[in-house]
Formats: sequence, structure tokens, C-alpha cells
Amino acid sequence: KPRKATKTHIFLPHLVASMEVEETYIMVKPDGIQRGLVGEIISRFEKKGFKLTGLKLFQCPQELAEEHYKDLKTRPFFPKLINYITSGPVVCMAWEGVGAVASARKLIGSTDPLQAEPGTIRGDLAVQTGRNVVHGSDSPENGKREIALWFKEGELCQWSPAQATWLRE
Ligand code: ADP
Repeated sequence: KPRKATKTHIFLPHLVASMEVEETYIMVKPDGIQRGLVGEIISRFEKKGFKLTGLKLFQCPQELAEEHYKDLKTRPFFPKLINYITSGPVVCMAWEGVGAVASARKLIGSTDPLQAEPGTIRGDLAVQTGRNVVHGSDSPENGKREIALWFKEGELCQWSPAQATWLRE
């Protein structure tokens, strides 16, 4: 009987830096706001060279939190996760860039902050999985899905960053 593949055994092409321009949904979770880390977290994506195309402070309703995390519905921590995400405002962001999905996941670090490398957001700023300060989409498809879920039409802006020619040759 073949062994069931686990997350770590599957080849995840989106975790390999892509040359495609991608969109990713990044969210500062309620603990990040309570702890005064909003500027610090936004700053890391700005400095990397991603383009911000959407930004808002938002109190997430229960149904939206459940839809966002629907893949985790059967997990024992799901009710706690929904409480956490709806416990205060979040900062919703849409960022765009070459290989932005995998690159943002690297900047964010492992789900468990104690496993996350120093230099990553979670590695530097958090200590517990249940309080890991930030979310980032795990695939380009989910990036699109989550941006459409959290932003209404008209809340996103397309613009041309002046630094473009100094960021990529
Ligand atoms: P990531 O956010 O790194 O993509 P997952 O998609 O596995 O991680 O989980 C989504 C979120 O659910 C995590 O960021 C974390 O806030 C929460 N979570 C995951 N596993 C646990 C757990 N064992 N206990 C509490 N919360 C968890």
C-alpha cells in the first residue's frame, strides 16, 4: 500500500521562486495590531520591493474568517483560530511582484514562530503558532482567491512605482 504523501513530501512548485508577476494576500493578524507591529510588518514587504495594491484596517466578520480558513475546518484548533482572527481589527493587504507568493512566505517564516528562522517576521516577532502575527497566501491561486475575498472592487489600485527600473534590470 503506498504511503500517503504528507505536506513535506509533495513537490510544491509555488515554493520555488517563480519569474511570474504574482499577487499575494498578506494580513497583519489582530495580535500584530495590538502589539504595535503594523508598520514593522508592512515595511518588510515594502523594502523587499513588492508593490502595494490594496490596504485597509478591517474588523473581520465570523463568516469571512471561516471562508478564508475553510481548508482547516476539520482541524481541532479551527474554533480558536476563528476567535483569534475576529478578536480585533486586521490589516488587509494585496501585494504584487515577481515570485511574490513564495518570496512573501519566506519573509514571513514557518507557521510555528519557534521554528521560524531569525530574520523572518515570525522568527523575529512571535513565539506561538496561535499568535503568529501575519498571514500570507500559500499559492498564486490562493493569492487571487484571498484578494477577491477580502477586497471589494474599487479598493485595489494599479500604479507604476517610480523605483521599477532600479529594482529590476
Ligand atoms: P500558515 O499561516 O503558515 O499558512 P496554516 O495554513 O497551516 O499556516 O494555518 C493557518 C493558521 O492557523 C496559522 O497561521 C495559525 O494562525 C493557525 N494554526 C495552525 N496550526 C495551528 C495550531 N496547531 N494551533 C493553533 N493555531 C494554529
